Amino acid sequence: VHNRLFDPADFSGKNVLVVGGGDSALESAIALAGCGAKVTVSYRKPEFSRPKPGNIEKLQMLEQDPKADVQVERPSSERVTTAFTRGMVKNAPTGSITLAMASTVTRIEPDKVTLKREDGEEVVLPNDDVFSMIGREAPLDFFRRSGLHVRGDWRPVTWISCIAFLLFCVALYHWKSNHPQEFPVQRWASQAHAFPYNIPKAIESAGGRIAQWSKSEGNFLFTLKRGLGNPSFYYTLAYCTCVLVFGIRRMRRRRTPYVKWQTLVLIASQWIPLFILPELILPWMGHNGFFEPGHPSRWVADQLFESYDGSLGHERAYWRAYGFILAFPLNVYNVFTEHPMWLWLGISFLQTFVIIPLIIFRWGKGAYCGWICSCGALAETMGDSYRSKMPHGPFWNRLNMVGQAVLLFALAILGLRIAGWTLGDDSWATHWYHKLFEGIPFLSYGWSVDIFMAGILGVGLYFWFSGRVWCRFACPLAALMHIYTRFSRYRIFPDKHKCISCNVCTSVCHQGIDVMNFANKGLPMEDPECVRCSACVQQCPTGVLQFGRYDGQENIILDQLPASPVLMREGK
Ligand code: SF4
Ligand code: SF4
Ligand code: SF4
Repeated sequence: VHNRLFDPADFSGKNVLVVGGGDSALESAIALAGCGAKVTVSYRKPEFSRPKPGNIEKLQMLEQDPKADVQVERPSSERVTTAFTRGMVKNAPTGSITLAMASTVTRIEPDKVTLKREDGEEVVLPNDDVFSMIGREAPLDFFRRSGLHVRGDWRPVTWISCIAFLLFCVALYHWKSNHPQEFPVQRWASQAHAFPYNIPKAIESAGGRIAQWSKSEGNFLFTLKRGLGNPSFYYTLAYCTCVLVFGIRRMRRRRTPYVKWQTLVLIASQWIPLFILPELILPWMGHNGFFEPGHPSRWVADQLFESYDGSLGHERAYWRAYGFILAFPLNVYNVFTEHPMWLWLGISFLQTFVIIPLIIFRWGKGAYCGWICSCGALAETMGDSYRSKMPHGPFWNRLNMVGQAVLLFALAILGLRIAGWTLGDDSWATHWYHKLFEGIPFLSYGWSVDIFMAGILGVGLYFWFSGRVWCRFACPLAALMHIYTRFSRYRIFPDKHKCISCNVCTSVCHQGIDVMNFANKGLPMEDPECVRCSACVQQCPTGVLQFGRYDGQENIILDQLPASPVLMREGK
């Protein structure tokens, strides 16, 4: 049994079984039959779906006419190590190809093989050699039976660590956000004066200059002390630090200008609106009179960050600054407010219905998901090592629809919110808005979507299912963006002649896209799930893929920012 084809002429006149349905199997069968072997191709599915259309066509031509003029000048599979041309077969007998679709091999003996067909019937064929060209499907069962651990298999320790991390995320997200109906972790911590609620007092009782400064409202230490007593300070600081540290590691591992600029933009777009503005600069401004009555910035502050201390306006809802990068309906809190916050409504409308559609039209959904959004920032940096853990296949593709259900849920609540504002606080609309948004334990939008799906599952499954679980399956903004992507000119363009069907591009895609299926057929990749992470382009060993777009006349315009190390070496 062979798993590589070196010289097809060695098998001239022999009975050969080729097992598999990819390019390796088809190119082997064509070369063997062309050199005079009597080839049977056994494939477990009823039809070929993965090989290049050109290879399927050549195989079918040879099946109908063994003398058909076909050749494999440049095998795309690394397991077919020589080309096959008609010049190689001058004195060879005439070969043949027989297709045994939907069959499996049940027995291999020195001079015969047994195939089991879909209807259960067994067929015995004379045989001299078998080529097992099962492409990417490694003999995993054999490895397991041999006691080897297969990476990705779930063992007891995997289950235990995953469940433990999920429980940690349950505690973390209820400590960070106040959800007393489900798990009142934050209330417990606050009532017990536990971390971080005990930190401001600890600073004040430290004595010396630090204590003195921390009591003076205009001093930066006062602002810092207030922040250090708040869980969200630590959460956003940890989040941004992860993006920074793992972002630097990503730039060092993947040295392309695309990765460098993408990562730098991601780092800046997290640190400024998620931490520096809401935890440091804005509170410091508040404590230094910038938002007091009569100050020119008072009006903007009142519109964007409502006051917690009445007309004084020193303490405000600065966390709303997250809305500068997190658009509705990913971030619903600046839209689902007690009374309309018109400036936030304007900003959210602009982001969701004007800016995002425009950038998607030109650069694709990834211009937001891969370059700006916080979830994307963590997935591309901390999640960089786990991208190949995203499961692929039809079952998982069907789950992509969850995001549409979440989007409908968000839009229904938006409708109730607008109706409630119009009909008044005592109306049925306001009643149902409160119930659906935060009133029903475990089922309300605030808990089931924001805490459970985005937080607990989205982060809790990071190390076992990649960093894009929330993005791929459940994000309501992504579901909306998939409508916009229908009009996008963005594509990933392949050079199919260079594709060796190695599947690297598919396996590193943490949005579950079968990139190879586009690449080896020469089709532009236009899957709306693509977040422009560049992993497929960057890791393709032969430089097949390039980011680009169509202009209005179906001409291809390739991106100028280099993303493929192979093309950079080739000077393209
Ligand atoms: S899919 Fe949603 S959460 Fe993920 S990066 Fe895009 S907008 Fe952000
Ligand atoms: S197709 Fe490529 S660029 Fe798009 S998400 Fe997948 S790996 Fe990233
Ligand atoms: S990584 Fe490159 S060579 Fe390999 S299958 Fe994908 S496009 Fe083809």
